[in-house]
Amino acid sequence: MAKRAARRPKDSTAAEGDDAAALEAGRLLFAGACRFVIGVARIDDLPSDAMPEVAFAGRSNVGKSSLINALTGRKTLARTSNTPGRTQQLNFFDLGGRLMLVDLPGYGYAKAPKGDVDRWNRLIRLYLKGRVGLRRLCLLIDARHGLKPPDRQVMDLLDEAAVAFQIVLTKTDKLKSGELEQRAAAIAGEIRKRAAANPEIIATSAVRGDGIAELRAVLASLATVAPLG
Ligand code: GDP
Repeated sequence: MAKRAARRPKDSTAAEGDDAAALEAGRLLFAGACRFVIGVARIDDLPSDAMPEVAFAGRSNVGKSSLINALTGRKTLARTSNTPGRTQQLNFFDLGGRLMLVDLPGYGYAKAPKGDVDRWNRLIRLYLKGRVGLRRLCLLIDARHGLKPPDRQVMDLLDEAAVAFQIVLTKTDKLKSGELEQRAAAIAGEIRKRAAANPEIIATSAVRGDGIAELRAVLASLATVAPLG
């Protein structure tokens, strides 16, 4: 205990320096070029996975398009839609040749025909299992609702495919601060036993900008330093 207390001032200064450097790396990555590469509806059409890749998944209407647009500072890169379940494409965005962002189709739309759900499962399963460059999946969860059965099914898939995932809470501006802490703690408790889960939960609001710089920093830590063609 004493040893730890004695070390704390130095450690915390170093940690603050690390944090500042990580935030700056995130800012720089997302300040650079971001290019839509391709939208893919069939597994055979996937682009090369030479670049490290981060995918975003979540229930329809979770705020995925808004989050991707907030991250990239572009208003219309990922198309926000009022018709949940409409798009069944994987959309690829190249961030300066250093990181590929993949916008996966939303799931869990109650009115989706069974055929669409089966197609989603097949496509995503193939994508998750075969993607060598996939470094992490950001699993978006609406902060108001927490984990729902379809989210747990996706986490089962991620555990099975051994794809590291990270929970990103969305729409945190709709909660009071005490509620947010409770929600995050409940989710942290639930994911603790999942092999593929990263314990850190990132709380974001695309409307207020909360957590965006932190998420950029996490993503920058997964990117290559130099552009890959
Ligand atoms: P997607 O279907 O997951 O891509 O979700 P969208 O990005 O289209 O967002 C769904 C709805 O939630 C839209 O009405 C957005 O304006 C709203 N929304 C998204 N992010 C936020 C947020 O951070 N805060 C609030 N209050 N609303 C949000």
